[in-house]
Amino acid sequence: MTDSPALSICVYCGSRMGDDPTYAEAARAFGAALARRGHRLVYGAGDVGLMGEVARAAQQAGGWTLGVIPEHLRAREVGKADLSALIVTETMHERKKVMFMNADAVVALPGGAGTLDELFEALTWRQLGLHRKPIVALNVAGFWDPLLALIAHFHARGFCGADVPASLAAAPDAEAALDLVEAQAR
Ligand code: AMP
Repeated sequence: MTDSPALSICVYCGSRMGDDPTYAEAARAFGAALARRGHRLVYGAGDVGLMGEVARAAQQAGGWTLGVIPEHLRAREVGKADLSALIVTETMHERKKVMFMNADAVVALPGGAGTLDELFEALTWRQLGLHRKPIVALNVAGFWDPLLALIAHFHARGFCGADVPASLAAAPDAEAALDLVEAQAR
């Protein structure tokens, strides 16, 4: 536990495990570290893939967990039944909104198109000045390097200001990601 105030941290991550056990290890390390520091987990309520890994690790470390899931995904993503709080939404849009509204910061772990969609919504809303919440990519084994290069390319080619690459912080591991979140959330 640090002296930082408790934060609600929204985690976006894959509903699959990926091809390397390092991703699941990082997801468990992040969930556990988040809870040990006294923060709350906000996530998509699934019990599959990295989503399940983060949530179980946070719970095992005594953390408070909020899951937000649309009714139609409850079966497919195997909605986790033992979270501290669960909100069931009607649509995906509503889910993203409720997750974001309940968060002080967002962290993206490895994932696929769904993770990217969620991360980019946070990034574009910040670009438009709609919020100042920290956005951190947990860059496990360089997973996000192609995305960081793409965002640098947007900037180099004149399609965004320097604020966009600057607003996506990257951290190599769970503790560094949480240090960034805590420093930027002040
Ligand atoms: P993925 O990274 O594709 O495994 O998806 C991670 C999370 O994002 C899962 O909870 C998905 O339900 C969610 N997701 C998938 N597609 C979308 C989408 N188009 N919009 C918002 N969330 C999505």
